[in-house]
Amino acid sequence: MKKQTRAIHTRFQSPDAYNSLSMPVYHTAAYEFDNANVMADAFCGRSSAPDYSRVTNPTVIYFENKIKDLTGAKDVIAFSSGMAAISNSLMAVAGAGKNIVTSRHMFGNTYALITSTLSRFGVGARLCDLTDLAEVEKTVDENSCCIYLEIITNPQMEVADLRALAEIAHRHNIPLIADTTAIPFTEFDSHALGVDIEIVSSTKYLSGGATSIGGLVIDYGTCEGFGKRMRSEMLLNLGAYMTPHAAYMQTLGLENLDARYRIQSANTQALAERLRTLPAIRRVNYVGLPDNPYHDLARSQFGPTAGAMLTIDLADRDACFSFINNLRLIRRATNLFDNRSLAIHPASTIFGPFTDEQRRDMDILDTTIRLSIGLEDVDDLFDDIRQALQES
Ligand SMILES: *Cc1c(COP(=O)(O)O)cnc(C)c1O
Repeated sequence: MKKQTRAIHTRFQSPDAYNSLSMPVYHTAAYEFDNANVMADAFCGRSSAPDYSRVTNPTVIYFENKIKDLTGAKDVIAFSSGMAAISNSLMAVAGAGKNIVTSRHMFGNTYALITSTLSRFGVGARLCDLTDLAEVEKTVDENSCCIYLEIITNPQMEVADLRALAEIAHRHNIPLIADTTAIPFTEFDSHALGVDIEIVSSTKYLSGGATSIGGLVIDYGTCEGFGKRMRSEMLLNLGAYMTPHAAYMQTLGLENLDARYRIQSANTQALAERLRTLPAIRRVNYVGLPDNPYHDLARSQFGPTAGAMLTIDLADRDACFSFINNLRLIRRATNLFDNRSLAIHPASTIFGPFTDEQRRDMDILDTTIRLSIGLEDVDDLFDDIRQALQES
């Protein structure tokens, strides 16, 4: 069966007492056992019976199983946020004296996690241009524990060659870890491109309508020891498992993800093309535009759609602030891939706490506005942008 059918019809792992048609939400912290033997088996991993919801919960497992089925992964673990998925994964592969090879172009909190939080525990950050393979090759050394990247960087929209990076990583016996939040995992096969561990902020496309925060670690089973460490060490000791309530909301989001994404990506493509006709916009950055420098590579890796995030550059910071203040329909908010379209000025918000020099290093420009395109009618979105630019 096709993915969209499977996304809807995954069966529960065990029959529900009342034949509930949708997944019941098991709001419980703990589970009772018939006797000491089955209890010992559950706690020592000899059975899959749930014991404690910091580590396992039937509603969360149902959500994880749906994604396992859609991606063909060996295991999927749902976390309380995208950042929890990222931090738990990096802590599972890194250690004092090791280093993470990555880019300066990435989500602000991930950058801060790697360059500041993890560095306090003796984990190095080796930052390089991941689109320059010779530089990557020089940057990886015997203490590297992974190559980490985002598939379309936010907000620079840079795309690296996953197959080539996987080849370098695997030659050095380290995993390629990719944050694929920018394009739903239902659209392309990241493991076929060489990704060993895929990370998703499910707060974004999956949650559908900004209902909840969540993160996923999609483990293809090709990084030795990783899966076991995640379930038997990280979940227990760091305690960032997804809640059953979030899993319920995100299961509903997953069931209609395909329908929403089709509209959102088509809206974004149409809008990107039309925004180029407005003289106040100096640049429209969207990998779906045929003359975007990453268009061909993005298409070959991710298929015909290019996501629902684009950026526009205006004359200066004042022009950006006045544009944002003038918006009537598009909401002033962070987050991505909500049903509503959203606008934000990354330099003064998400990247506001960084120094000017750090922002320069990360190519975060004062002139850039990030737009996340929702399910509205494209004409209405275009009209709002045009009036906010005060163009007739
Ligand atoms: C939002 C985001 C994250 C962090 O996810 P949270 O769910 O907000 O913790 C990580 N990576 C990317 C690319 C994101 O857009």
